[in-house]
Amino acid sequence: MSNPLLDELDNSGIVKTVEIALPTLARFYPLGEVLDSKADATAMRIQPLSILEESAFTDPMMLLSGRGVSRMVKRVAPMVTEPEKLSDIDVQAILIACRIISRGPDIEVDQSCPSCEKESKLKIDLEDFMMKFTPFTDEESDQFTIVLPEVGQTVRLKPISYKDATEIVMMSVSSEMGMKKYAGIKDDEIFDTAFIQDYKEQFEKMVDNNVTALASSIYYVQTRSEKKIFNREHIKEWLVALPTDEVKEINQRLKIIGKFIQERTKMKFTCPSCKKSNDVHINLDPQMLFTQAVEQEVEKKSTAGSNTTKNRKSNPERILQK
Ligand SMILES: [Zn+2]
Repeated sequence: MSNPLLDELDNSGIVKTVEIALPTLARFYPLGEVLDSKADATAMRIQPLSILEESAFTDPMMLLSGRGVSRMVKRVAPMVTEPEKLSDIDVQAILIACRIISRGPDIEVDQSCPSCEKESKLKIDLEDFMMKFTPFTDEESDQFTIVLPEVGQTVRLKPISYKDATEIVMMSVSSEMGMKKYAGIKDDEIFDTAFIQDYKEQFEKMVDNNVTALASSIYYVQTRSEKKIFNREHIKEWLVALPTDEVKEINQRLKIIGKFIQERTKMKFTCPSCKKSNDVHINLDPQMLFTQAVEQEVEKKSTAGSNTTKNRKSNPERILQK
């Protein structure tokens, strides 16, 4: 049943929305999954984030589990049906577009200088930044397909999903902590059976994490008889059995892909301390995008009357990422 209150809001035109193209162009989502089957990845409508929804990002548990982001994406991009499977780069594009129409394009991030390591504030115009989030070109998209020279199977790679990216970070932190306790071990303790058992378990967990991380960059593997395998567990078993050279091929290709994805988050940063210019990569998480906006608004109000803090008002209808 439709809600007449919402219908009136939607038709009034006072709630600004914006259209963007998803960087992946939905090339890595099966039709009707992740996005609604009627969705147009070249023109996704993004709605602003209500002030009442922002609490999802100040809650650390919601943020850590990635649930805050899933919830928000579903809210502001209604054509996304399974936000947790959305590629990380598409999530970033959606969040940035949403921030622009909800709170304006200006943001300041803490940036440490690659030359002198001093930290300072970097001002970013998100509308300019967003221009770099261009859809993958056909040439780039082709890089995701790789025919393994020896076994003849075809691997279709994919940009990592938001959920996998979050889980991999948590996995590597816990595995690092698990392995750290062995650093200061004494010689006679190495022969202790409980120690050996424990170490084995930690080690296996670490190996399994590596396989999981690699599998999360694989969309499907196609057999020589052209059957596409999407099953993550099957892919993991297959990866463990795959000859080293083939694994190396996949890793090399992932490096190339990682490079052109990272290229989209690159910015020139001139350090105010040492005056040196460096390329830096900007990773805007939802906390940076939305909680900072609230702080800035409070600041603006407290300096009311001074013209120097006047912000550029921006209401783009479509952001064309060329
Ligand atoms: Zn510096």
